[in-house]
Amino acid sequence: MTIEKWVSDLAQMVNPQNIKCNESLKQYTMTKLGGNADVFVMPETEEEAANIVKYAYENNVPLLMLGNGSNMVVRDGGVRGIVIHFAKLDRIDIDGEMVIAQSGALIKEVSKLAAAQALTGFEFACGIPGSIGGAMAMNAGAYGGEIKDVIVDCTVLTPTGERIVLSKDELELAYRKSVITKKGYYVLNAKFHLAKGDQEEIDAKIADLTFQRESKQPLEYPSAGSVFKRPPGYFAGKLIQDSQLQGKGVGGAEVSTKHAGFIINKNNATATDYIETIHMVQRVVKEKFNVDLELEVKIVGED
Ligand code: FAD
Repeated sequence: MTIEKWVSDLAQMVNPQNIKCNESLKQYTMTKLGGNADVFVMPETEEEAANIVKYAYENNVPLLMLGNGSNMVVRDGGVRGIVIHFAKLDRIDIDGEMVIAQSGALIKEVSKLAAAQALTGFEFACGIPGSIGGAMAMNAGAYGGEIKDVIVDCTVLTPTGERIVLSKDELELAYRKSVITKKGYYVLNAKFHLAKGDQEEIDAKIADLTFQRESKQPLEYPSAGSVFKRPPGYFAGKLIQDSQLQGKGVGGAEVSTKHAGFIINKNNATATDYIETIHMVQRVVKEKFNVDLELEVKIVGED
């Protein structure tokens, strides 16, 4: 099957304006580097999303789910097959203490809307730059809160395109992982249960978390956030700092001097620069402390 055939088949399922060929993924990822997708498609409804997933499965076309690109590094050769992006599935409904958000809604936006209704429980997410889909997949969390604390259930498509609802337990949410990445599910929407709170306390907590984030993270540069998971018994950032790696890097990529756990795209880095910097950090930390730094970010595509 050719790329032209994928495009003409997809055009039967979605508005052709939502299909792009050889689309640069730089603009969709927060590291602002990497190559192009053969085909990039944005469904407008959950039914369209299901049809695309079924089509890819039945025709053996590689399909990559891209959320808000805040935890993803695309290699310079780009992505073969179809990249599916749910930015147009972004409805957020609040009913009493229940919030239902579609996959492409930004988790920050959900946090803001919940706070505006004096609902507590989602303040932790106020500065996380991901989508609901990505946050579910990664069990996103910060400052003592995580998705696991507030989730009720999540509607997903299986890799064959079947729509199923997963309960909190079935989601297997753990530190930066879930059944979603394990089984290759596609998140359509998620339901959260928050609690009525005190407006002033909620606003104060969000202001405090925003201050902490802005003062500690290099938000002025493109990055993928914390590159590594927290190794048991250690902090990745501290190990990197103690390895004197801050300010070092390959090409345009650099270990942030503000937060050692971040690798920034300081000066037109390529994905190769970024990934080589990751490997350099892993090698030095292993040599100095005998600790393996496991990746939190997802590296996708071809060299
Ligand atoms: P992407 O980066 O697009 O994708 C990440 C993974 O999720 C991929 O495997 C992708 O296939 C999968 N995915 C995305 N959407 C779906 C979907 N609809 N269905 C199935 N799988 C899907 N993370 C934290 O947990 N806490 C933080 O405090 C935090 N701070 C950050 C700060 C900065 C400046 C940056 C750049 C990142 C930070 N992150 C943080 C990382 C990132 O925001 C989270 O991991 C977020 O949940 C990723 O969501 P995303 O939509 O951007 O996913």
